[in-house]
Amino acid sequence: TAQKETRGFQTESKQLLHLMIHSLYSNKEIFLRELVSNASDAADKLRFEALKDDSLFEGNSELKIQIDFDKDAKTVTISDNGIGMSRDEVIENLGTIAKSGTAAFLQNMTGDEKKDSHLIGQFGVGFYSAFIVADKVDVFTRRAGAPASEGVHWECDGEAEYTIEMVEKADRGTQIVLHLKDDQTEFADGWRLRSVIKKYSDHISLPVVMEKEKAPAEEEGEAAAEQAPEYETINTATALWTRSRSDIKEEEYKEFYRHVSHDFSDPMTWSHNRVEGKLDYTSLLYIPAKAPFDLYNRDGSRGLKLYVQRTFIMDDAEQFLPMYLRFVKGIVDSADLSLNVSREILQKDPNIDAMRSGLTKRVLDMLEKMAKKDPEQYNNFWKEFGEVLKEGPAEDFANKEKIAKLFRFSSTHTDKPEQDQSLEQYVERMKEGQDKIYYVAAENFNTAKSSPHLEVFRKKGIEVLILFDRVDEWLMGNMFEFDGKNFQDVAKGSLDLGGLDSEEEKKAQEESEKALSGLLERAKEALKDDVAEVRITHRLTDSPACLVVGENDMGAQMRRLMEQAGQ
Ligand code: ADP
Ligand code: MG
Repeated sequence: TAQKETRGFQTESKQLLHLMIHSLYSNKEIFLRELVSNASDAADKLRFEALKDDSLFEGNSELKIQIDFDKDAKTVTISDNGIGMSRDEVIENLGTIAKSGTAAFLQNMTGDEKKDSHLIGQFGVGFYSAFIVADKVDVFTRRAGAPASEGVHWECDGEAEYTIEMVEKADRGTQIVLHLKDDQTEFADGWRLRSVIKKYSDHISLPVVMEKEKAPAEEEGEAAAEQAPEYETINTATALWTRSRSDIKEEEYKEFYRHVSHDFSDPMTWSHNRVEGKLDYTSLLYIPAKAPFDLYNRDGSRGLKLYVQRTFIMDDAEQFLPMYLRFVKGIVDSADLSLNVSREILQKDPNIDAMRSGLTKRVLDMLEKMAKKDPEQYNNFWKEFGEVLKEGPAEDFANKEKIAKLFRFSSTHTDKPEQDQSLEQYVERMKEGQDKIYYVAAENFNTAKSSPHLEVFRKKGIEVLILFDRVDEWLMGNMFEFDGKNFQDVAKGSLDLGGLDSEEEKKAQEESEKALSGLLERAKEALKDDVAEVRITHRLTDSPACLVVGENDMGAQMRRLMEQAGQ
């Protein structure tokens, strides 16, 4: 339909948009970064599709982003000659503010501007940030390869509806016209725009161009007015990861992170490396500061942005990192892969396995370094991503020990719920004669901490790890040992503290066992329908009796987990 059509956004959209405008207001210049970022993505997509079909370039493969402004009309215009959008794509991409999960997301809003803007950023409101400064936005777009008659005009004032109509558009790509709010006209200014682009978009690998500023005298001359405007590139325009580390400023790394991750916050840390030799690739890997809301969503996006010799190939390339490192963001640029590599090929290519283990090691090393250099930051990392890392030993056998070193637990050594004790620290504190790493597991810290099974350990001064994350018992089932020492659940089976008891203690134990044999028989008789066995224990110091689980039975916490899952 060529006719102009009015369409409504979904119910929550208006609320989301208003919240976003409000919470990002103090950082309003980021609208430009988001629109330039999208234009750059559109160029990447065109280059990629053109690998198979050169005609999509329509005779012009010089991709760029152009920024214009008009002081009198109070507009800023961002144009690109990237992939563009069809009518259906416009409706899908620009007509859906609220994504699945929006209602739940809105409930998480706190009213605290800083927290909210972070949440908003995670939600990916990129394009709509235009409405922070504009009270009306026009989008003119045409998909590469489509005829000029299939241009699309989308118009919206940031309220509940938008209009869409077919228009003529000679050039492929997208042009976004922002009609600035009366109090945002500062952006219709060359100097202001240049400085914002330098600040946020310098790392964009294609040129961002603006009309050269004319000297006032020149502007008045009539001859000058008739000349075609001259444009100049205002960003560095080389792919950031191809530059040498020493030339890249911290701020540039951070901005690049925002571009690849669609996260508004700073990353926690990053690692930029070039590998040469049998395989030749560059990687730039980031650890986000906060866990994304869909970290535990199986279909949540994960993986790296894949480039082959600087040409963008795909987003979310999952093959380069294991599942338990799914929080890592970044890029990998291979010099060896073919430009027409596909997901299917990636799954089969043995070189990918080699890259994957290289990149995995890179991330684990980066975390190890952070833990050594900045324990406080590492604790923050652990709070956000520790539970995901605990999936590691089951998935990545080869790196088991390396991963285990990164674990942090609560322990009777501190008796605090903070998980900040490493296994290495535990092993260092082990008692003479102790050959096991003891742990107690329960559904929360307080229950675990006051377990009667801990009594004897406390008395003897033997440290016990206190586990209370949902995945902990499952984790222990996959760990077996650390540094040659087995893990032992203090609530399981007949606990032999053999080497840790003194001769006198052993003697006293034998005597009390003899003395209590009659009681034991009576208890066995009385409870024979309810329990598998009754034993005398030396584990308890204050409590008269306790229930234990058989050595090979499921732990109590694991059983609860299974029950919850309906097993
Ligand atoms: P994101 O960039 O995180 O996907 P945005 O809100 O920034 O989210 O953009 C939404 C979608 O709109 C993009 O994924 C893309 O498909 C489309 N889009 C936005 N800007 C452009 C553009 N300049 N050219 C082509 N498509 C675009
Ligand atoms: Mg975007």
